[in-house]
Order: sequence, then structure tokens, then C-alpha cells
Amino acid sequence: MNRSNPASMTIRRAGGAALSPAGISSTPFWFENLLDGGGDGDLAAIRADLAPGTITKWHSHPRGQLLYALSGVGLAQVCGGEVNELRAGDAVWFAPGEKHWHGASPHGTFAYLSVQLWQDGRNVDWLEQVEQRR
Ligand code: MN
Repeated sequence: MNRSNPASMTIRRAGGAALSPAGISSTPFWFENLLDGGGDGDLAAIRADLAPGTITKWHSHPRGQLLYALSGVGLAQVCGGEVNELRAGDAVWFAPGEKHWHGASPHGTFAYLSVQLWQDGRNVDWLEQVEQRR
């Protein structure tokens, strides 16, 4: 990937939502790329809007992930841990390589801001589907 974070102030206007690629979550969700990046240490940022019950597959991030809840009710679980409920204003840090999933509660939509760092051409490593959830 050759993209890198812009070398000067850049405003990306609202809009441009796209549906997530198949296979990374229980159902596709809408997202907007806020910042692309691609080089080691670059930032990638998205806003995601999930319908009730939509959750990601298990995955990890090579340099970690900050997830900031914008609205609704979300869920997040680290492998071997409890399912945590997330609400607007909550900020979650997933450490580099920490296996986890996140998504929307079955009872409500969930919107969040996600910030990840690139490493070796990727900012996420997808794993298997989540078999059990609350
Ligand atoms: Mn994640």
C-alpha cells in the first residue's frame, strides 16, 4: 500500500459512506474512511455505524486500536474475558495483538470512531467468527 497520511492539513468532508466488505462481520455495516494511511506508523481512522446485533469476527490489530463510542449501545470482548457494554463517550484501547471482537448490542445501533496504526501494510488481522455472544 502506497498511501500515507497527508503531508499537510486536509479536510475530508462528511459523506462517502461505504458498506464494509463481506466476511469481516455478522452483517455488513456502514463506515466512512476518515484517514487512510498505509505506511508503518501511519494512522487509519474510520467512523462505523452498525445495525443492532452486528458484530465483527474475532480479530487483532498489529499496533493496537482505540475505539471511541459515539452513540448507541456497543459490546466488546477480549478473548477469555467478559462481554463489556459500551455507551457514548466510552473509550476502549485494544493492545497490539490482543484478540477481540466488537459490535452493536442486539437491542440498539452502535456508532464508533476507530483509530488504528499501520504496520507491514495492514492495521487489522481477521480471525474466526464469534460463536457465542450475548
Ligand atoms: Mn478491533
